[in-house]
Amino acid sequence: MRLGGLNNCLFGFAETGAIPEKGMVINMKDIVVIGAGPAGLTAAIYGIRAGYQVTVLEENIYGGQVASTPTVENYPGIESITGVDFSISLYNQATALGAEILFEKLESCDLKGEVKKLQTANGAIEARAVIIANGAKRAKLGCEGEERLTGRGVSYCATCDGAFYKGKEVAIVGGGNTALEDALFLSNNCSAVHLVHRRDQFRGVPILQESVKKRENIVIHYNAVPRAITGENAVEAIVLDSTVGGESETIPVSGVFVAIGTKPENERYKDQLPLTDGGYFDVGEDCTTPLPGVYVAGDSRRKPLRQIVTATADGAVAATMAAGYLNQQ
Ligand SMILES: Cc1cc2nc3c(=O)[nH]c(=O)nc-3n(C[C@H](O)[C@H](O)[C@H](O)COP(=O)(O)OP(=O)(O)OC[C@H]3O[C@@H](n4cnc5c(N)ncnc54)[C@H](O)[C@@H]3O)c2cc1C
Repeated sequence: MRLGGLNNCLFGFAETGAIPEKGMVINMKDIVVIGAGPAGLTAAIYGIRAGYQVTVLEENIYGGQVASTPTVENYPGIESITGVDFSISLYNQATALGAEILFEKLESCDLKGEVKKLQTANGAIEARAVIIANGAKRAKLGCEGEERLTGRGVSYCATCDGAFYKGKEVAIVGGGNTALEDALFLSNNCSAVHLVHRRDQFRGVPILQESVKKRENIVIHYNAVPRAITGENAVEAIVLDSTVGGESETIPVSGVFVAIGTKPENERYKDQLPLTDGGYFDVGEDCTTPLPGVYVAGDSRRKPLRQIVTATADGAVAATMAAGYLNQQ
């Protein structure tokens, strides 16, 4: 089915927006993309421009990780843009071209045959080609209280939740660029920001480290790891253990922000596609997997740099490879 062939929908889903029953096959799609982050939406743009109908499945909000980024200042050609505006622009570009975005989570799939079978909570979808661009998610601390108090003071997104802590004391855990950026962001509104890092120096770029050290309301706790986040119904304190044999300390805070990195969620593909030890797709620059018609793009695959520019590049490559594959069918 070529672009414009949405009238092939067996049940008129695209036109009516009606949600089919679980297990019902909607139609045969040309290309289904898993994930509406920068990689997935770019794949949609390139897939459509190559002449194919593209459906994107998104379990959350479009934009992926970028949607929770305060400002993007390293994407070539755009001096500065908020993550939200970047996401909206990417989404508008893809949908204006004709991408179909379904806000559904991919639950399971069988990618081995010529017809790729995908299952979401709302129904079954079949596709001729699949591009997996499901990105990566924030890593968790794994300490006591984290799970219980998530959404009640524990947050993984300073940009999204920082405003709730105006004038309050908060902690942020991490030592990379994200943690440093978030600490600066939070310090604009919070009375004090406790930056907790397990090592004796940060991993983030020097310019961010200098900015953090200059801020009077950022208190740095080197060589410390959270043992627990405490509070009955909301966060009241963070308990830190020393990694170098010093004393533990309890810091009263209203919020704990976790910024210790991201990890892929590729478990559901492990029997069908090769994964690295870290769980990333073990696939190179051509985004091509050992399964014909299946491609991966963006943060979910092994790569030296996980950024928007590399994710969008992957999306373009993956869609071009998928179109080449479909051209030969
Ligand atoms: C706080 C923060 C700040 C950043 N700042 C910058 C920056 O300034 N510049 C820069 O270049 N990069 C930045 N990055 C990195 C950049 O955002 C990522 O490299 C980029 O978003 C990766 O794109 P992606 O499409 O591969 O994955 P993601 O952005 O992770 O998108 C994947 C999408 O797939 C969806 N998904 C996952 N599983 C399923 C499923 N089963 N079914 C349906 N949908 C699914 C997710 O909900 C998500 O929307 C930042 C990241 C973070 C977290």
